[in-house]
Amino acid sequence: MKTSYDAAVIGAGVFGAWTAYTLARQGRRVVLLDAHGAGNSRASSGGETRIIRMNYGADELYTRLSQRSLRLWLRFCAETHLPLFHRTGALFTAPKGHPHLKAAGEVLASCGIRHEVLGVRDLRSRFPQIRLDSVSALYEPQSGVLMARRAVMALVEECERLGVRYLTDAATWSKGLQTSSGRKIAAGNYVFACGPWLPRLFPEILRDRIRSTRQQVFFLGTAPGDERFAPPAMPVWIDFEEGAYTVPDIECRGFKIGVDKHGPEVDPETLDRVPSADKIAEMRRVVRRRFPLLGDAPLLEARVCQYENTWNGDFLVDRHPDFPNVWLVGGGSGHGFKHGPAVGAHVAGLLNGGDVLPRFSLATKKTRRLRQVF
Ligand SMILES: Cc1cc2nc3c(=O)[nH]c(=O)nc-3n(C[C@H](O)[C@H](O)[C@H](O)COP(=O)(O)OP(=O)(O)OC[C@H]3O[C@@H](n4cnc5c(N)ncnc54)[C@H](O)[C@@H]3O)c2cc1C
Repeated sequence: MKTSYDAAVIGAGVFGAWTAYTLARQGRRVVLLDAHGAGNSRASSGGETRIIRMNYGADELYTRLSQRSLRLWLRFCAETHLPLFHRTGALFTAPKGHPHLKAAGEVLASCGIRHEVLGVRDLRSRFPQIRLDSVSALYEPQSGVLMARRAVMALVEECERLGVRYLTDAATWSKGLQTSSGRKIAAGNYVFACGPWLPRLFPEILRDRIRSTRQQVFFLGTAPGDERFAPPAMPVWIDFEEGAYTVPDIECRGFKIGVDKHGPEVDPETLDRVPSADKIAEMRRVVRRRFPLLGDAPLLEARVCQYENTWNGDFLVDRHPDFPNVWLVGGGSGHGFKHGPAVGAHVAGLLNGGDVLPRFSLATKKTRRLRQVF
């Protein structure tokens, strides 16, 4: 039997969960589906932690989205009484005179976001556990870390509390929504927030416009009783020279490190998630150079995941060209998690008649690759 909803949201990753939650708060009748379950291990949102920072260099659009999202994440944490955000601060470094940090300082100032420009002497006294010579540095005290997988699960629980029907079921689109278990779902709007699976669902439009790449993160063990790599001593650290980033040891999972370079193209459904030796070696080189105290730290855990990249890193939030009530939402491109709340609010606005943002439109999605959003 067909049931009619205001919106069917397909995909309970961070984009879909925030979309469903925002619509439900507005009193809409919503059904939310996920093929593998909210926060599942294949999903891009299924990791333990994700960084939220405001610095996007000269890119004011994402700085403001992130600023808005942080407010909404904090409201969600306050309303649910869940510790899903850790205000660790975020430290950015780059070779001296790097344009990214200079531009970031100006944008952060114009958005009223607290930040400090640090010199090498400040860095040595405040963060002696990081080896940083002749670098420019910027510090955001309000930024930090989101407990990603748990946040997505909590959002879906809240959705259900607000009356959203949540189903573990895989959807397909063919002039209507069908599921693998034989359901037919009718809704006023259909929001496909399927992250790296979007090209599988809409190959004719998205095959070359969203490409998933193999990415790896590692968790290192610190010495017994050593608090130098956990908050408050250690913030998030992002370096624009080697593309490395670290997340301090939160909830005793280990000191997380990743290198933000795109790996080979993969399929999220079948991706082999065994970490590779060359990436472990690459991670060790960064650790030995920047964190000599962790040079021989044991590898506690590793995770292999995927980024779902658009050509330049801009998100995709637009209508399907043939179906005006079908929306394509994704292209997180390795930086989307933090923006879940702002993306959810934006999608809800579109369903209420708002305008597609040119940078998020399908028309601006090229098939060549030139990463521009960092
Ligand atoms: C290693 C790594 C580190 C990252 N670090 C950061 C970071 O520090 N900060 C940050 O902001 N971002 C970061 N990101 C990026 C961020 O995690 C992603 O941009 C974001 O999680 C994408 O969310 P999504 O909702 O679009 O996709 P997903 O989380 O992948 O969700 C899509 C969902 O759709 C479901 N689905 C797929 N097909 C169907 C179907 N046919 N029917 C029903 N359901 C379906 C899937 O099961 C899945 O749950 C990182 C990503 C990775 C991989």
